[in-house]
Amino acid sequence: MHGNVIAAISTPPGKGGVAVIRMSGSGAIEIARSVFLPLSGKDITDYKPRTQIYGYVIYNEEKIDDGMLTVFPSPHSYTGEDTVEISCHGGILVTRTVLEALFAKGAVPAEAGEFTRRAFINGKLSLSEAEAIGTLLEATSHEQIKLSSSPARAKLCEAIDAIRRDLTDVMSSIWARIDYPDEDLGDFTDAETVQRLEAVKYNLSRLIGTYRTGRAINEGISTVIVGKPNVGKSTLYNLLVGEDAAIVTDIAGTTRDVLERTVPLGRVTLRLTDTAGVRSGEGLDKVEAIGIERSKSRIASAELIIALFDLSREFDESDKELIDEITKAQGYKICLLNKCDLADKNDPPFDASLIPEGVFGETISISADKDNLKTIETLTQMVNGLFTDEKISCGQDAIVSSARQHSSLLRALGFIDTAIDAYRSGLMTDAASSDIEMAIGAISELDGRAVSDSIVNDIFSKFCVGK
Ligand code: GDP
Repeated sequence: MHGNVIAAISTPPGKGGVAVIRMSGSGAIEIARSVFLPLSGKDITDYKPRTQIYGYVIYNEEKIDDGMLTVFPSPHSYTGEDTVEISCHGGILVTRTVLEALFAKGAVPAEAGEFTRRAFINGKLSLSEAEAIGTLLEATSHEQIKLSSSPARAKLCEAIDAIRRDLTDVMSSIWARIDYPDEDLGDFTDAETVQRLEAVKYNLSRLIGTYRTGRAINEGISTVIVGKPNVGKSTLYNLLVGEDAAIVTDIAGTTRDVLERTVPLGRVTLRLTDTAGVRSGEGLDKVEAIGIERSKSRIASAELIIALFDLSREFDESDKELIDEITKAQGYKICLLNKCDLADKNDPPFDASLIPEGVFGETISISADKDNLKTIETLTQMVNGLFTDEKISCGQDAIVSSARQHSSLLRALGFIDTAIDAYRSGLMTDAASSDIEMAIGAISELDGRAVSDSIVNDIFSKFCVGK
């Protein structure tokens, strides 16, 4: 038995040209040797590591498939353990049978994310790198791919390492002075310690500042499209989604519930919600009324509120009710005056001066239906400008992109602030140094050098089997 060897199909389930089955753990090479027969008649260990070997997979003494096998001896593998990959034909049954052959020889099924988890445990990846790989697998935009790419991951690791190194330097100087008070350890005054801590604080704050951009790209901005019925919400929603996800008709109240999609818009990702039109007055049926209540609650919780008004109709009570609702909300508010192609034909015209000043951060006229390219272009520019820093480049700069990383860095910053205060108010060096130690602890939590099992479990539970 090789209880420590895990195996799984690493390619997506279903039929495909080729499927990859991966096995990792000490004993993996031995299991592979017992199920795989190279056509050359040689032993798989006679080949140079990481070369592809053509041969047959054997199960119950029968050749069940032919394919390629690659051996990645420890430590030069994804997991850091002996790893073997078999590329076989991608039929559902054939792949399953190859896997069964491995199980029959003692491999056990891998749990979700177990390969990456082993890579983390064996020091092949930091926790933030593992998180980035999770993001890469889920990526829905090019910018997300760039953010999770290996150069981008390396940049973040470097920045975190540099901060940890600086803090450790300060710590060791403090301890040296405590332990050897009589030695001449150079010109290292309290003021200088504060200066060094201020420098770390500056770098840390800059890194924390990248989260606004990282978050907009990676986690996305919760966005709601609102407006009275027939104003063009579904038209805009479909335009952003890039397909007819919402029903567009000229019948008021067609969208009765909340529709949700994650869509890229330039660099950022929108977690987009199309809602039932908010309207006041008589004649609402029960379903529409519930839809309107949901729209209102989405307005309250959204980070970005895109409000549409209809230039082809008069400003009315429903517009007013919507503005009242939006005014109460915290999110960033954009006002789109839609159907500008019909604005001149309307008598009396839509009176935009009835929209109170100060409610919306930006106001623009668009035609979601008739000039969709310009609408997308304008929105892309506006939203990207609002939620990202264009000077920050994915792949070039260290970018914090997960809430967990962000909160570790904020905690580290808090400890450094307390340490600086302690020095400034002339407190004991001991007190300040324990804060610095806690700051180092928070940083180490970020890349997984010191992190609780529950956080590790939480991160890896989001992976799929075979990764
Ligand atoms: P919703 O009820 O707010 O979701 O509105 P819809 O997106 O269903 O649009 C209502 C009607 O307005 C549809 O017939 C659209 O084709 C039309 N419409 C949407 N945007 C424009 C626009 O910019 N110009 C013109 N002329 N018609 C539009």
